[in-house]
Amino acid sequence: MRTSPRVLMIGVDAGELSLIRAALPSLPTFRRLFDEGVFHPLASSAEYVSASVWPTMYTGGMPGEHGISQHIQWDPSSMRMRRIGSDWLYCEPFWYGLARAGLGVTVLDVPFTFENREPRAMEIANWGSHDLMGPFQASVPALRRDIRRRFGRHPMGYEIPVSKDTGQLETMRRECIEGAHTKAELARWLRETTRWNLFLAVFGECHRGGHILWRDHDVAHAHVPPGALLDVYRAVDAGVGRVLDGVDLATTTVVVFALHGMGYNFSQEHFVRRAMDRINAIHRREDVVRDAPPAPRRGLMRALRESIPAPVQHAIARAVPVQVRDWVVAREVTGGVDWRKTPGISLRSDLFSFVRLNLAGRERDGMLAPGSDEHRRYVDHVTQSFLALRTDTGAPIVRDVVPAHEVLAGARRDLLPDMILRWTDEYPATSARSPALGTIHAAPDSGRTGEHRPGGFALVLGAAAKSGGLPPLAHNADFPGFVAHLLGVRLGS
Ligand SMILES: [Zn+2]
Repeated sequence: MRTSPRVLMIGVDAGELSLIRAALPSLPTFRRLFDEGVFHPLASSAEYVSASVWPTMYTGGMPGEHGISQHIQWDPSSMRMRRIGSDWLYCEPFWYGLARAGLGVTVLDVPFTFENREPRAMEIANWGSHDLMGPFQASVPALRRDIRRRFGRHPMGYEIPVSKDTGQLETMRRECIEGAHTKAELARWLRETTRWNLFLAVFGECHRGGHILWRDHDVAHAHVPPGALLDVYRAVDAGVGRVLDGVDLATTTVVVFALHGMGYNFSQEHFVRRAMDRINAIHRREDVVRDAPPAPRRGLMRALRESIPAPVQHAIARAVPVQVRDWVVAREVTGGVDWRKTPGISLRSDLFSFVRLNLAGRERDGMLAPGSDEHRRYVDHVTQSFLALRTDTGAPIVRDVVPAHEVLAGARRDLLPDMILRWTDEYPATSARSPALGTIHAAPDSGRTGEHRPGGFALVLGAAAKSGGLPPLAHNADFPGFVAHLLGVRLGS
């Protein structure tokens, strides 16, 4: 009797290939995967927007198509930062097509997925991910209760984007290790107790650990416990081994993958809002009003965030509900802004920084006429202002300014930022200057010593890999086609 094919996928979210390769002697599961598997390097949509990698993976569409650039992103109709949800920016994951074709689907903790809309697919989300989209949920309520009873909670929680001290990082290292262990038990249990042709589980601990536990020779990394990140990778390596143990490679294709990677943080995001304040003040003086402009107002939330010590912010943020934290992010971006006089703002982002234009007809209170001379002058002014910024040693901090709509086409491209500032590889500076903007002093405040690199990888094992019959897999957008091909299903449009 012919058994139907199976694909077992394990995502190691933001697992960095160079780190894994260097640590192979202490990562036995990865060592085996490299020895026995077929290696696929992956390019990814993180080349522009790091938070897009999961929606691109599960839809096969680029960011202009799915429209997702952040878990809290700009909503032009309300002119505020808003948490994405199934009522806004919903995208269907490719495994619903597999479930509709009658295949068993079990999916655990894929980041950036929405509430289940296809009851035939068994989905568990937000149990333990780096990017939590909302409360823990399972497509079957009884399963949710059962998981809570058997496995409790993942200790990682939400990331609080403020600086952390060594003691806090030690705690977070332990949380990542413990979380990886419990995630492995949960994934193993689902593997054994659910009916699946596609099984997909994602470990989020290398992602969280990579952001906060990255340590190299930079003085700004000195507070990070040495070896902490490797400890997290070892725990995830053991967890992946636990999920793979005993899988029959004659009938199952195994795919262990990371969509993007991690390196030291070179984001200069902390300068962007202050730079935009100055850029807008200069623009107002030159282009909008002839009389002297008022001094830019910062907004209460931004002023508070810039003056309250990080440990206090951290304690407050861990104690309040997520809606309150979202409100803080929203006020920080838009507090004190007079839209009649503001042609563009910076959006709070991660590695690369985002500028959104206040376009008439697109933003609720838009003031910049699309295609006008002023529009073109402003875009040029923003671009040149950022390209001119230098550190104390004279090094440029901006590599390029990407016009997002030109490179990321698609039906939802109007929801993406207009300009993506991509940094050079300088370590975060505390002052930056240019002749036009003067000197801007700002300290990094995200608490991240690590940030993303766009390259990912996949290691594939099993009969299909041995016979050389694998479909193309070279980009994070290739996954829907890759999996459907292995399972012998044609996905509809
Ligand atoms: Zn990240």
